[in-house]
Amino acid sequence: MIKNQKTQPIVDSTLSNHEALRQNPDSPCPSELISDLELFEVNYYSFDGQIHIGQIVAHKDLVRDILGAFHLLCAEKFPIQSAIPIADARFMWDDTLSTKANNTSAYNFRNVRDTDEISNHATGRALDINPRLNPYFPGQKVFPADATYNPNVPGTILADSKLVKYFTDLGWTWGATWRDDPDYQHFEKLG
Ligand SMILES: [Zn+2]
Repeated sequence: MIKNQKTQPIVDSTLSNHEALRQNPDSPCPSELISDLELFEVNYYSFDGQIHIGQIVAHKDLVRDILGAFHLLCAEKFPIQSAIPIADARFMWDDTLSTKANNTSAYNFRNVRDTDEISNHATGRALDINPRLNPYFPGQKVFPADATYNPNVPGTILADSKLVKYFTDLGWTWGATWRDDPDYQHFEKLG
């Protein structure tokens, strides 16, 4: 066993700017949107009780807000599974793979699930946190499939949490407050 192993952060994602902003050939993002995106590093406490380093791609105007949220979550030891951009080879822009893996991410040039409407993730203005523990419930469905929302499980976002208050105070909206289709993983702030 390596000495001091527990004090070394575990690196979950090390994409270059070029790799993180690589576009899905089936759904390329317009270049004027790409120029507003920023790749940045985040630290988080994970389910193994250790500090991890991941990456987020989001709209450049929201970087400070998101870094503050990770700082808050780390201080509270709220576990984050991973933060790996959607262009990573493990996901290849596939939101289903990313959400099943409980991966936290922001930018993804895609539509709102099962609609023709462009998602706010497409402009990097939405963040999904631990999506398998904080599912999206459109109508009678649940995404990711078979996920459940259990407030007693660590890593689940609660209505009275510091995180929800933090984001709300900064003008973000939490998807769980959407009347018809609660989306517990989702926070967004429009420009
Ligand atoms: Zn979302």
